[in-house]
Amino acid sequence: MHGRTYTHDNTNGATVRLICEVCKIDQKHAVIKSVRRTDEHDHETAITEYEIVQCLNCDELSFRKEYSDSETYYYDHESDENVHDFTVDVYPSRTAGRFKLKGIFFLPPLVRAAYEELIQALNGGQKILAGLGVRVLIEMICKDKSAEGGNLYKKIDDLVRMGVLTPAGCEILHKLRSMGNDSAHEARPSSSDQLSLAMDVVDNLLDSVYIHPKMAATVFPVKDQV
Ligand SMILES: [Zn+2]
Repeated sequence: MHGRTYTHDNTNGATVRLICEVCKIDQKHAVIKSVRRTDEHDHETAITEYEIVQCLNCDELSFRKEYSDSETYYYDHESDENVHDFTVDVYPSRTAGRFKLKGIFFLPPLVRAAYEELIQALNGGQKILAGLGVRVLIEMICKDKSAEGGNLYKKIDDLVRMGVLTPAGCEILHKLRSMGNDSAHEARPSSSDQLSLAMDVVDNLLDSVYIHPKMAATVFPVKDQV
């Protein structure tokens, strides 16, 4: 038998476990809606289940795709039988466990675009591009703040002069800048530890420069002077 067929709602109501993008931990999710694609070729059958799933703790929605076929299985010693293997993709991607900052819509467009691509590169495991992305993001922050200087080194120093950055933060940004240099000139991937620290620093910087001041303005509106 050959061909491709689609059937609906086969797994509705089932529960699956995955990391929730909002809860940031492994949570039970319920399948809200599903479409199954079946591809049959001779004696092989491949099944792809496309599911909209909802976190049972916070109601956040995600998209889950599960693929399995009749040719992929492994032997389970405990049960003494062959078990079908399957692969799962989740969108938005959260494989590397790096989550976007709350309030990224407060970021200026160029800074936000660089930040979002950086997260994508990180979560896709693209370490050279992520290292490069850190550098591009710093460049965009300097540009947005109109930092002056003939090169990125001087611009970062200028952020301190303007009071945007602390001297301690400046020192770390210089390290991140050189990490981006290695990515750009030698295609050398940064280590996971370096990238993880870089993202902690970048998140802090974006929070303190852009997001927290805007949030403070909404949470503590200016009152009339008494
Ligand atoms: Zn959740």
